[in-house]
Amino acid sequence: MSDPALREEGGVTVLALYETRRERERVASIEDAVELIADSEPSDAVCRKIVTRDDTVVYDSTRNGSIENWAAEWRLERERLSASEDVHACPHESPGCTAEDLCLQCAMDRQIERHSTSGR
Ligand SMILES: [Zn+2]
Repeated sequence: MSDPALREEGGVTVLALYETRRERERVASIEDAVELIADSEPSDAVCRKIVTRDDTVVYDSTRNGSIENWAAEWRLERERLSASEDVHACPHESPGCTAEDLCLQCAMDRQIERHSTSGR
């Protein structure tokens, strides 16, 4: 079972481009896509991509290199993001306030913090 938090809304598409054809497969999450690509290595595909539902290419084998390296980095990034979300507790109790998307009060607090520390 993969973490439901890592599930992509609407699934992700794995694209494999070959010299003469292309294959696409729909999976539930990026983890599943990584597994699918890793399992079919080595492959004669020219290029392989992981595309999310909003058409964002998150992995491109010609640009990002091996799927193992990319997946390791992606997992670290995910951890970092979820860790920073956990750390941020809104002191103003605004719903939907996260480290990535601060509420107005928190954004102002941060501005003040920045100004007060910039002179040191
Ligand atoms: Zn806030």
